[in-house]
Amino acid sequence: MDADPIRLSKHGLEHRLIDRDAARVLRRLHDFGFHAYLVGGSVRDLLLGRTPKDFDVVTSARPQEVRRLFRRCRLIGRRFRLAHVLGENGNIIETATFRAKPTEGADSVLITDDNNFGTPRSDAYRRDFTVNALFFDAAADEVIDYVGGLEDLERRVLRTIGDPVTRFREDPDRMLRAVKFAARLDFEIDAPGRAAIEAQRAELSKAAIPRLYEEMVRLLSGGAAAKSVALLDELRLLEILSPELSAARAHLPPEWASVEKGLLEALNRRKSGPDVIPHGLYFAALFWPLVKGLGSLLNADAQPNEMRTLAETMMLPMAVRLSVPKRTMESALGVMSAQFRVPRLNASKLATFASLPHYSAALAFAQIRGEAGEVEDEEADIWNKMASKYPPPPMVRPAPRRRRRRPRQAPRR
Ligand code: ATP
Ligand code: MG
Repeated sequence: MDADPIRLSKHGLEHRLIDRDAARVLRRLHDFGFHAYLVGGSVRDLLLGRTPKDFDVVTSARPQEVRRLFRRCRLIGRRFRLAHVLGENGNIIETATFRAKPTEGADSVLITDDNNFGTPRSDAYRRDFTVNALFFDAAADEVIDYVGGLEDLERRVLRTIGDPVTRFREDPDRMLRAVKFAARLDFEIDAPGRAAIEAQRAELSKAAIPRLYEEMVRLLSGGAAAKSVALLDELRLLEILSPELSAARAHLPPEWASVEKGLLEALNRRKSGPDVIPHGLYFAALFWPLVKGLGSLLNADAQPNEMRTLAETMMLPMAVRLSVPKRTMESALGVMSAQFRVPRLNASKLATFASLPHYSAALAFAQIRGEAGEVEDEEADIWNKMASKYPPPPMVRPAPRRRRRRPRQAPRR
């Protein structure tokens, strides 16, 4: 018999911090006799005293039953139906039915279908890390833990549910998720997890490409980019995602390695401000130290267009491998080459430059470089004058990608 879960009532999770729409969904499902729990990142983050990004709900109600209970609700997902309950101001509460253990394909351990319903226990067990599998039962005011997540949360350890080798082989994307959570939450990946990544890292090339790109953007924009990239490299996952970047980083003079850290940290600080950061800026921050640091080693007085070519050559293999959208590449390259061009422009050319699409991003990037201590006073002056003469319009985000649904497409072989 499976052991009973831990039910913790002295958890310190404050109800008032639960999103109102999510609380309403939980209450209504409960009132109609269903089990309904908060789950995933929201429970984890609330227990850690962090602000959750989104609030997901799991329930014993079937998708059709959820739909009948909420006026503004749509069912999504072809393989696994789940409900999106619409709240205020476009807020969406993803409401999924407890899921059963995935059925395994006969010829592979990769998950191919997990479209069947289950129990709270089975739902907890199919999740990735123990700290992501905690349920919060708002009606009973209890945290429910089937997998030892509370203890891991306490010890700040990231541990897969079940054998890490199996879990990473089922879904190689979980290795990137491990890096993301470890960096963002300041957790340690446990020793078996690290060993499994070491052994399974090549599986990453089997993961579905759009997911890799999305995870990469999440790593860079999740508030801990510098740490994420360092950890990616340490675990030699960067070698798989971008062998060129990883090789070039290894040859970077130490002062440029600290520029990378400075740039990524400055970008992450902006994230908490009013700015919307185009994805191209993250990639520019990642490649800038290589382009400028290595570029100046190769040719101290290269022309801006030569530097653009160098940047393009360095980025292209990764862009192809991760299928980085064209506009993101264009923006990264435009932003980087502007750093070389702008200091050489005369007044009338500056005016033209200020009307170009990448102007705001190029300016923001120059400021970020300044924060990373990489801009001489003379150059800073040029950018500052330009900024006051031509106030930059707000930066725009690339076309929104729809929120990811779970389960995702099984990686293709
Ligand atoms: P974030 O704060 O970044 O949103 P999160 O933990 O909420 O973190 P999501 O990607 O939003 O992560 O996914 C929600 C939950 O779904 C996770 O907490 C986890 O329980 C489960 N999950 C997501 N991706 C996977 C996966 N690849 N394998 C197993 N479970 C997953
Ligand atoms: Mg989430």
